[in-house]
Amino acid sequence: MSVEQPSVLLVEDEPAQREVLAYNLEADGFRVTSAGDGEEALMLVDEAAPDLILLDWMLPNVSGIEVCRQLKTRAETRGVPIIMLSARSEEVDRVRGLETGADDYVVKPYSVIELMARVRAQLRRTRPSTVGERLEYADIVLDSETHRVTRAGEALKLGPTEFRLLSTFMEKPGRVWSREQLLDRVWGRDIYVDTRTVDVHIGRLRKALCQHGGDDPLRTVRGAGYALG
Ligand code: CA
Repeated sequence: MSVEQPSVLLVEDEPAQREVLAYNLEADGFRVTSAGDGEEALMLVDEAAPDLILLDWMLPNVSGIEVCRQLKTRAETRGVPIIMLSARSEEVDRVRGLETGADDYVVKPYSVIELMARVRAQLRRTRPSTVGERLEYADIVLDSETHRVTRAGEALKLGPTEFRLLSTFMEKPGRVWSREQLLDRVWGRDIYVDTRTVDVHIGRLRKALCQHGGDDPLRTVRGAGYALG
């Protein structure tokens, strides 16, 4: 399982367009889930929030605008970037799209290359470790492309799980992650892992981060979880 691949929810009611987009997203290394209407999209987001949503404007049942509005008013999904796809290019639509909280807006017919660039631009903001970014926190540097981590210039030895944990922390320093959130992010939802497993790997990560000295940068927040810094 490759939980580091960012997940994209593709909401498009035209099967041919859905297929082309899904194909290109998968070829670019994304995990793709598709929905053919707004209702299904909302249900899928409830099950597991994706890293990004590509949302067609005109959908049967619940429209794309309504899906966007609903997701952007909920605290749990507000941060998920939404790129709206629309066949209509009028400025008024663009404005409505932005008022519903959509993060970007692409007019059909779009170039797939441009759309992929927009997808990456959104993820660079919200999930930098998934698009080959270099993350830095204090004297720790993590390169998600080469999977190398250094502290004060010295290479650190990290297991794959510890690497994913550290990427998660480094994406949002200071944020407190509950054990359940870390499980979802690092192990994925499909696997049953006890929350105590998280503690075990946090222990290993702490050890790894201090293997050449330095203070433990991870903070245990009683009753809440863990945070970096
Ligand atoms: Ca449509």
